[in-house]
Amino acid sequence: MHINDAVFLEDLCPKFRFRQWRKSIHRFTGKSCIYCGKASESIDHVIPRSQGGLSTTENCVPACLSCNGDKSNENALYWYRRQKFYDPRRAMAIRAWLDGDLRLAIRLLQWAHPDSRINKNKEKDRSEYKAA
Ligand SMILES: [Zn+2]
Repeated sequence: MHINDAVFLEDLCPKFRFRQWRKSIHRFTGKSCIYCGKASESIDHVIPRSQGGLSTTENCVPACLSCNGDKSNENALYWYRRQKFYDPRRAMAIRAWLDGDLRLAIRLLQWAHPDSRINKNKEKDRSEYKAA
């Protein structure tokens, strides 16, 4: 897994590790915002740093600038519940992400958004696999 690799990279070069880490966060959701499904342009802290949230994979999710800015310093789970695009499956995915169960989170996101880029990437991977 990428996460395990990153642990070693951190010792070698923190900057490189940080960049790779940000990329890997976006890759998990196929570069789509975990809240609304639009293109993710930023990393959002589910529990804001001002409330003691850490910059760990569990607490950092891909988000579009609109969601990230609108949410501001609020706890994401409370903020998300009030949004027009609220989807209970996405809320479960955010919870799973916070628990560190990224595989479950991604599965829930795929369920919430069957046409999302996550599934398209998967199909692409599959066809590449067949070709190989
Ligand atoms: Zn969004």
